[in-house]
Amino acid sequence: MGGINESNRKMVDIAKAPAGYDGPGFFATKLGLAVGLARKNSIWPLPFATSCCGIEFMATMAAHYDLGRFGSERMSFSPRQADLLMVMGTIAKKMAPVLRQVYEQMAEPKWVMAVGACASSGGIFDTYSVLQGIDRILPVDVYVPGCPPRPEQIIDGLIAIQKLVAKEPLGRRETPEYQAMLATYGIK
Ligand code: SF4
Repeated sequence: MGGINESNRKMVDIAKAPAGYDGPGFFATKLGLAVGLARKNSIWPLPFATSCCGIEFMATMAAHYDLGRFGSERMSFSPRQADLLMVMGTIAKKMAPVLRQVYEQMAEPKWVMAVGACASSGGIFDTYSVLQGIDRILPVDVYVPGCPPRPEQIIDGLIAIQKLVAKEPLGRRETPEYQAMLATYGIK
């Protein structure tokens, strides 16, 4: 009853305390590191799945791989309550404006993962009708290779996103550099 046993001690270890100073009854760290720790372990993904890679994502969410272990079990199908856009599948050029609208409806800070060859580069569909990578219309933080990627690769992509989230400085989104990057995509 109560206390931390060996099995849940491992779970506690997943969220390690950031660098700081501690002593009897206190722990001090930087605000940015504390915010990064909280954000990193509570990412809410919006799955934008159009084809086969989406099936791999379903396996990633299911019990065997269980993305919930990383704090991401709460999927959001509402862009306004999501902070990670996961694009999985072939994106037809006709669908590109819809994907772009979903991205723009998400609140900052937000991150984007291109899962699989199709989302990253158009994959095997080098045709007039398929977008040759979602980075033609919006900024991408992490690319996951594969056709399809295995669930382990998708988890690896999420861990890469977590590392970015944890170390992102507060206020980065308001910097002229970030705004200039958005401007290259025509995003205000
Ligand atoms: S990358 Fe391969 S598995 Fe994924 S959506 Fe494209 S064709 Fe399907």
